[in-house]
This record gives sequence, structure tokens and C-alpha cells, in this order.
Amino acid sequence: MIAPEVLDYDFPTYLEVIADFTANELIPSENEMVEAGEVPSRIVDRMAALGLFGISIPRSYGGLEWSMEQQVQLTLEFTRASCVYRSRFSTVIGLCSQAILDHGTEEQRTRMLPKMAAGELITAFALTEEEAGSDAAHLRSTARRTGDTYILDGSKRYITNAAWADAFLVFARTDESDDGAGGVSALLVDADSPGVRTVLPTIMNGHAEAPVGEIHFDRVEVPARNLLGGVEGAGLTMALRGINHARLHVAATCVGQATRMLEEASSHVNGRNQFGAPLADLGAVQASLGASFAELEAGRALTMESARAFDAGEIPRHRIAAAKLYSSEMASRVADRCVQLLGGEGIVGPHPIPRMWRDVRALRIYEGSSPIHERNLARAMTKQVRSDGTLPDSYRV
Ligand SMILES: Cc1cc2nc3c(=O)[nH]c(=O)nc-3n(C[C@H](O)[C@H](O)[C@H](O)COP(=O)(O)OP(=O)(O)OC[C@H]3O[C@@H](n4cnc5c(N)ncnc54)[C@H](O)[C@@H]3O)c2cc1C
Repeated sequence: MIAPEVLDYDFPTYLEVIADFTANELIPSENEMVEAGEVPSRIVDRMAALGLFGISIPRSYGGLEWSMEQQVQLTLEFTRASCVYRSRFSTVIGLCSQAILDHGTEEQRTRMLPKMAAGELITAFALTEEEAGSDAAHLRSTARRTGDTYILDGSKRYITNAAWADAFLVFARTDESDDGAGGVSALLVDADSPGVRTVLPTIMNGHAEAPVGEIHFDRVEVPARNLLGGVEGAGLTMALRGINHARLHVAATCVGQATRMLEEASSHVNGRNQFGAPLADLGAVQASLGASFAELEAGRALTMESARAFDAGEIPRHRIAAAKLYSSEMASRVADRCVQLLGGEGIVGPHPIPRMWRDVRALRIYEGSSPIHERNLARAMTKQVRSDGTLPDSYRV
């Protein structure tokens, strides 16, 4: 439950509270989290009390209703700590709540959003399948309607929070005569329904404390009232609202992670002497840090600007894609340089930078991999230039 006083905070106070929580609770608990292999439940309870599950959900549904710019500012703070913490509530604030908010029926919104905002109903977004990753529109799971029930069959993989979810937003084919996006619908599925089975991976290379799971559906009965928005065939269009939201949050996460790594690396090169002087005095070290800072600030500016455009009205999906593409590539480049600055400590021992180096690698793969964003941006650019000679929304203020 969100602590009552949190609901009364103005935004500057709330931002300060989250910055304190990050510095005094999240960062100091990182080693405990790594040893436990998951986010400690004490921290998850604190996240819920502080309203982190509800930052994007309207006040009328029990959330804190911060604007996108404010959500990005918050993300820049709490992702100075391990981005695994964010994974724990990311699927609630982005992918799932935004699809329900924009496309759910009023009954679905009032049934789910207040519990989601309070951290009492964890939701996961179940789209990816073994044969449908980047090409999600060709997914094979089916939901066949019989009377007031859908019978759901199929398997999903790489699903964030599969292990902790109380409910899944599942994408399945309701029209098998259409093998593309038009045959896909979105269904809200209780995780404890008979026929649902979740399997966790044995190996995670990065994000180890937030394992992504497989979910298997074997003749699962889903009440027809759980069809998102009561509309068949629009599942992937409905997903886009949450996906654009999540992509912008991922861009901010990359900036937050790069900020922390550069703080840690700068501290290391100040304290470590070689050749009779701090590493910080070496030109090559300065070049690495200076270039990284410039790229960090470019990622921050693009992400903040995209968030402001988001708040201004029409969702700037090309600019958001550019922010996600650039910031995730930037975070990996910065991580690699920071590992280099640590020398052997970048490979051996418990320094946080190598852990973050592994974690940020995944951010170039999920929420649209970098090659897919490059392809989609190029297609949008050439298409629009053909039609009116201009570039897409990234060049319009
Ligand atoms: C940590 C993590 C969390 C995730 N969380 C979720 C989740 O909560 N819910 C969910 O549904 N999914 C989730 N995913 C899945 C993620 O969205 C997919 O991994 C991603 O879409 C890529 O699909 P794939 O892994 O099948 O790779 P593939 O689609 O097989 O692609 C492999 C490579 O080929 C490239 N490629 C593919 N097609 C093209 C093309 N047309 N042009 C150029 N390059 C191409 C890709 O960019 C990629 O680099 C998660 C993944 C990870 C790693």
C-alpha cells in the first residue's frame, strides 16, 4: 500500500525522497541483492510504500500520476542503483498499466489499476515466443472462444517478472485465419489459473537478480470479460501505448546507469596511482571520461526532450525510438570504457561497474533491439521524405 503521506507530497519533495531512498537503501543493498539472487522483499515493500508501482497511474485509480517528464526525472534517480530494482516494478508502470489505462474497459481499469498502483497486483507483459521475437506479429499462441470463455494455449519466453506476477497481459491469436497482427488480441490472465506453468532460467548473463521466465498455457480458461477493451484483433495496437512508455523509461534507465558508472569510475581514477600519479591525470583516461560525459549528456537531453514532447500531446514515437536506441548504445559504450578504467578490478571482484556492464547489455535487446530501431527509423525517414520531403517527428518541435 502507498503510505498515506506519500500521496500528499508535491513533486520536488517526492523526487528528494526517491533520491534519498536510492542513496541510502537501494545502493547499499546491492550486494545483499546479488547474494540473495533477487530483490529483497523488504525493499519491494518499501518500493510499494513509496508509490513506485504507481508513478504512472492516475490519482483517480490510486496512483501518483506524475507526468512523463517527472517519471523520467525519477527514473534518472532510482536507476543510479542497479537497474534490476527497476525491473521489479517496470512491467506494472509501463507495459501493463498503460495498455489497461488507454484500452481497457472501465471495469478492467477499476478492478486492476488501484491494486497495481499499490504494488499489490504485479503484472507481467507476455508477448515474446520462441518463434516470435523481433517479429512479434507472427506469434502462435491461440485463444479460442467458446461461449463466455477463451481457451488459451501456447508458450511465452523471456518474460520479466514471470516469477512474481499475479496476472499476465497475454497476446494470443483469436483469429487463426489471419496470421499477422490483425489476428492478435490481448487478454488479462490470472497467474494462478489452472494450466498456467512458469519456468525460470538456470543461467542469466546480466539482470541475474531479475530472471525472465517462460510461461506455458495449457488449455487455460480465461473469462471473456478479460479480453482487453472487449475488442478482438487490436492486441498489438493496444500494446504500443505501453511499449512507447516503456521505451522512454528504458532510455532514462540507460542514462541513470551511465551516470552511476561514471561517478564510480571517476572516483576510482582519482584514488588509484600508477607511474607516480593518479590515473585521473593521464590524457587517455581524461579522453575516455570526457567523451563518456558528452555522450551521457546527449542521451539525457534526448530522453528529457522526448518526455516533454510526450507530455505535450501526440506520442513522438520516432524520437522515443531514437532516445532508446542512442541511450542504450551509449550506456554500453560507457560501461565498456569504465571497465577498462578499472583494469583488473573490472573483471575480478565485487566492484559494481562490471555488474552494471553486464546488466546494461540487455537494454540493447529488449524494448526493441538496436537493429530493429535502426531499421524502423530508416523506413520512417525514407517514407516521409518520399511523401513530403521532411523527416519524422524527431525534427519537429
Ligand atoms: C532481460 C530481458 C527482458 C525481457 N522482457 C520481456 C517481457 O517482459 N515481455 C516480453 O514479451 N518479452 C521480453 N523480452 C524479450 C525481448 O523483447 C526479445 O528478446 C527481443 O524482442 C528480441 O527477440 P529475440 O530474442 O527472439 O531475438 P531475434 O528476434 O531472434 O533477433 C536476434 C537478433 O537479430 C536481429 N534482427 C531480427 N530481425 C531483424 C531485422 N528485421 N533487421 C535487423 N536485425 C534483426 C535482432 O535485432 C537481434 O539482434 C525480454 C528480453 C530480455 C533479454
